[in-house]
Amino acid sequence: MSTTLVPDLLWENGRFVPERALVINGDRIQAIVPAAQAGPDAQRLPRRALMPGFVNAHSHAFQRLIRGRTQWRPVEDRSADFWSWREEMYRAALMLSPDEVEAVSAFCFMEMLKAGYTTVGEFHYLHNDRSGAPYDDPAELAQRVIAAARSVGIRIVLLHVAYATSGIGQALRPEQLRFATPTLDGYLDVVDSLQAAASADPLVTVGVAPHSIRAVPRDWLPAIRDYAQQRDLPLHMHVSEQPAEVDAALAAYGLRPVELLEQDGVLDARFTAVHATHLAAHEVNALGASAVTICACPTTERDLGDGFLQAANLLDAGARIAIGTDSQSIIDPFEEVRVIEYHERLQRLRRIVLLPPDAEGAADPGPLLLDIGTRAGAAALRLPAGRLEEGSLADLVAVDLDHIALAGCEADTLAVHLALGGRAECVSDVWTGGVQRIAARRHADEERLRASFRAAVRS
Ligand SMILES: [Zn+2]
Repeated sequence: MSTTLVPDLLWENGRFVPERALVINGDRIQAIVPAAQAGPDAQRLPRRALMPGFVNAHSHAFQRLIRGRTQWRPVEDRSADFWSWREEMYRAALMLSPDEVEAVSAFCFMEMLKAGYTTVGEFHYLHNDRSGAPYDDPAELAQRVIAAARSVGIRIVLLHVAYATSGIGQALRPEQLRFATPTLDGYLDVVDSLQAAASADPLVTVGVAPHSIRAVPRDWLPAIRDYAQQRDLPLHMHVSEQPAEVDAALAAYGLRPVELLEQDGVLDARFTAVHATHLAAHEVNALGASAVTICACPTTERDLGDGFLQAANLLDAGARIAIGTDSQSIIDPFEEVRVIEYHERLQRLRRIVLLPPDAEGAADPGPLLLDIGTRAGAAALRLPAGRLEEGSLADLVAVDLDHIALAGCEADTLAVHLALGGRAECVSDVWTGGVQRIAARRHADEERLRASFRAAVRS
């Protein structure tokens, strides 16, 4: 059965155009046709612009619980930084029961859907019970997170995390035992089981994710790389988020993190480096030459004081940039993409820095920033999504052209208006796999999800 959507404007080939209709068949886009061809049964979307859903390529859903709880320090201690934030995160991670992991994740995923994210790449590293022992099913918590995504209707790529050391060559600390995947074979067995379970559900796929060079022995990396290649899975990893990680890699291996990954053959088009905020110039070139994706999480990186992404240099070198909500300090894809451009302006004392490589004449950063938010993330998660074209997944967002933040925009300025002036509340309707999940800014299960989240916060 097919459904036809007829918005005022539709995102096609990098611009918003009028008089187009989108035909959905099953979970895919069947065609884009002239609006005049839409029949009487078509769903009209007056004062709406239709675009691909945003892709959140890096998330830790349970961290939604600590939003607002880490924004303090002892007055006399000016040294609050990433590492002190991490202690607070560990406390939350240690506290959650499986039911609470599912409830917090479901609420977080609903917030993502309402903001226009249709896919989440969930970098999942909560594996064991609160004592650090494996559950009877070692994939218990991963399955809970997947169940949460299915219950709200967001597409999920479960990036199952390998986590074995506290720092390079150091045993896990007691508060990290919940994350432990003590053996490589055991870790890959769980990924096998997750793939088998996911094969029945079109909204669920799986990827591999060595947590970082801090948390995984170096000799695991080639095996995880080969595993991903053989099964065509995405491979994601935190890379060079903090100067201390670079220093630790130099001390232990005599190599910077990207140098190590290059030497071990990990860098390729299936690889996504999350953050990559502390790169030397030759590392930027190495990432670009291998066509890797950098997952920028700029709202988290500014919250944690991580540093700036070298976005223009990375794009010039040939890398792709995607976005992630990471710590969930804010869930708003428009904010995520615009910070990438604005950080460049602040560092370079210039304006209009990021333009598409094929731009001609007078150009604005809107189309590139929307691509970063949609198509790049889909590629990083190896999904046929992030674009409105025949055969793509019908993961869609309608934005409300009457929202006050968009007043004054025209078809030819809407992309940049959204990218630099839009906000999550501009999203009115959301579809994943051809099914409408958000209608008039509401999720059908919203009250129950809010109540379960509140209960988890209070426990
Ligand atoms: Zn992360």
